[in-house]
Amino acid sequence: MSHNHEERIYLSPPHMSGDELTLIEEAFASNWIAPLGPHVDAFERETAVHTGRKAALALSSGTAGIHLAAVLLEIEAGDVVFCSSFTFAATIAPFYHLGAECVFIDSEPDSWNMSPQALARALETASAQRRLPKAVVVVNLYGQSCNMDPILALCRQYGIPLLEDAAESLGALYKGRPSGSFGAFSVFSYNGNKILTTSGGGMLLSDDPGQIDRARFLSTQARDPAPWYQHSILGWNYRLSNVLAAIGRAQMRHLQSRVEARRNIFKRYFEALKDVPGISFMPEPLWSRSTRWLTTLALRPPIRISPFEVLERMEARNIEGRPLWKPMHLQPVFAGGTYWPHEEGHDVSGELFSCGLCLPSGSSLSEPQQERVIECLKEVLEA
Ligand SMILES: *Cc1c(COP(=O)(O)O)cnc(C)c1O
Repeated sequence: MSHNHEERIYLSPPHMSGDELTLIEEAFASNWIAPLGPHVDAFERETAVHTGRKAALALSSGTAGIHLAAVLLEIEAGDVVFCSSFTFAATIAPFYHLGAECVFIDSEPDSWNMSPQALARALETASAQRRLPKAVVVVNLYGQSCNMDPILALCRQYGIPLLEDAAESLGALYKGRPSGSFGAFSVFSYNGNKILTTSGGGMLLSDDPGQIDRARFLSTQARDPAPWYQHSILGWNYRLSNVLAAIGRAQMRHLQSRVEARRNIFKRYFEALKDVPGISFMPEPLWSRSTRWLTTLALRPPIRISPFEVLERMEARNIEGRPLWKPMHLQPVFAGGTYWPHEEGHDVSGELFSCGLCLPSGSSLSEPQQERVIECLKEVLEA
């Protein structure tokens, strides 16, 4: 009963518009085949305009953006950073590479992103122990902003800068304001599976142009302004190529239609599956306009089958799904770390990991393809 002859349905494949080639040709014609050039400058400007930020820096990855933000926030060995536990390891790794340590903050049930009440308890305790973090790092998962206002209020109360990991939320809104416009720094990713892609790339944004100038210097090997190669400190090679920035600019022109397409895909899944007892989708609070980058759902009783088994059954039909992110407080590499659940005894992100999954959600997914996914799910879940 193998269905492997059926065409593969991917989770979130790249979706090219065709305009990319025109802009790449421009890069070739002008011979700007380099990690600088007019497309890089324009991609930065256009992304700054989209978010209303004062400055932006195009980089080779979102992870590079988080690393540079951590350096600009002066995170050093022995420092503590508070971070959403429910995320991808890329959010966290740069802090550990700098010798710092993360305290993991749980999600709230209403948005699946950082729980303001867990953050409040963690900050209160840290303040009493005189061990306040150097930064708070929020993550906007699956195309949805975190609950910004209460989190920003807590950061202001304790005087702690916020870093917004908006890698998954380009195009999303919080109370009408674009994702990536909050906090001291924000970061986007253009990895292959994100809502827009340059095949790989990232953007660091801030309202402090001086900080972005500093990041630009650090991301280009920290060369002193001297007639020879002179270095007073060490930097990195983190810039985005002009060819890839051309792809990014062409992709940016289609952001709104990509958001609409993913939201429509979510709506179709929702309509088809909402009446299956035990299914619930990632909620979208009133303050949020999610891009629904990935349609995600939780399976609870009376559904007995685990998400991992559902994913295997989908794979047997040549359909690619994915488990939800395994929270950082459950990762072997961070064993023994401090974790603040949403409430005492209520581990929201851990529970979501054990019962949730991501469905194919690419903006190029056709209705017949989505029908195949829905049919497969109904069969597996109603059995
Ligand atoms: C994709 C992603 C990143 C990393 O971005 P890259 O461009 O792949 O380095 C960081 N954080 C989150 C939440 C992501 O999903």
